Amino acid sequence: MNRRAQASQPRSAKRIARILILPGDGIGPEVAEQGVRVLDAAAKGAGIELAFEEGLIGGASIDANGSPITDDVIERARSARAVFLGAVGGPKWDGLPFAQRPERGLLRIRKELGLFANLRPATVFSALADASTLRPEVVTGIDLLVVRELTGGLYFGEPRGDALVGGLRESRNTMVYNEVEIARIARVAFEAARLRRKELTHVHKANVLEVSQLWVTVVEEVAKDYSDVILHHQLVDSMAMLLLREPRNYDVIVTSNLFGDILSDEAAMITGSLGMLPSASLGEGGVGLYEPVHGSAPDIAGKDAANPLAAILSAAMLLEHSLAAPEPAARIRAAVGSVLDDGHRTIDLVGDSGLASVGCAAMGELVLQRLGK
Ligand code: NAD
Repeated sequence: MNRRAQASQPRSAKRIARILILPGDGIGPEVAEQGVRVLDAAAKGAGIELAFEEGLIGGASIDANGSPITDDVIERARSARAVFLGAVGGPKWDGLPFAQRPERGLLRIRKELGLFANLRPATVFSALADASTLRPEVVTGIDLLVVRELTGGLYFGEPRGDALVGGLRESRNTMVYNEVEIARIARVAFEAARLRRKELTHVHKANVLEVSQLWVTVVEEVAKDYSDVILHHQLVDSMAMLLLREPRNYDVIVTSNLFGDILSDEAAMITGSLGMLPSASLGEGGVGLYEPVHGSAPDIAGKDAANPLAAILSAAMLLEHSLAAPEPAARIRAAVGSVLDDGHRTIDLVGDSGLASVGCAAMGELVLQRLGK
């Protein structure tokens, strides 16, 4: 992470950071456009100058270049300060073989940039407390951050695959982590906790898995450098229940690839609205990738009906993590909260509230107006 180095620059120094935008497919370009408008305005307001350039990923890249991402885009991503992505995929490319599908572009860029840490905040804006399937009094005030290890564990471990053993079909995957992989994700989580409530919950299954026992040991070792952060360990099965029962008790959660995949979706659904969820993927190379959690939503693409707030909140994460600029990030979040408090909703958030809805571009404009205030 290069946050410390950037943060130590003199405040007066003019910072020009190059941002690579990969709009992708479906609603990707629509929400990315609003995210970039807000990002640019918030950055300018903080004296940070951004230089934007665009590239292709997913189906758009398949159509233009025959592959879901090109080496040229990977190189441009490597030399950028950050990558801002819309979404990839759609029915047009569903029939392609697995290795040529739009999602492969996303997997490749994550791998090439070494993005081992996936940060997924799940926040409930007070105006949207009734969007959750849980009772408003349970969800009001939720502000969780799930830090998931993204490049190791069960999804990548070897050996893997099918075999015929004694005449029977067998299949295996391997959960494997080394201490370096665990320590680096633990550090990301402790650093994040330090900027928040200073509480970190490590989620594991150490009662049955040796891999989890190593996680407990290494996370404890890293904790010695963060005596200001309170560390808890929690079994993953009870965590799944506690997240539903008392989600406000938790702040930063750190866990392995498999557990993080499941728990981050659970935390996301507690908030009730896919169109509101941002994410950041960070790595040792210093380039972060920021994208909404949702997909390309082909059912509403091209109709100006998408909710751009997940993309806009991803822009806030970019400011915070890749530009060491928490103030403009907080201003974006406050602007989003203010727009929602005033009753503005995209169609996905209207539900049975009886409120009128605004389009994707109009929602972006409303956030921009609040930023200016
Ligand atoms: P999806 O997230 O695209 O859509 C699920 C539902 O949520 C749809 O009804 C959609 O209209 C709605 N929705 C999603 N984002 C919204 C937004 N910002 N505003 C309003 N409504 C929104 O998931 P899906 O339908 O399972 O997948 C569609 C395509 O997206 C597939 O090709 C899939 O592979 C791809 N996908 C891509 C990513 C990514 O780029 N990171 C993630 C998930 C899915």
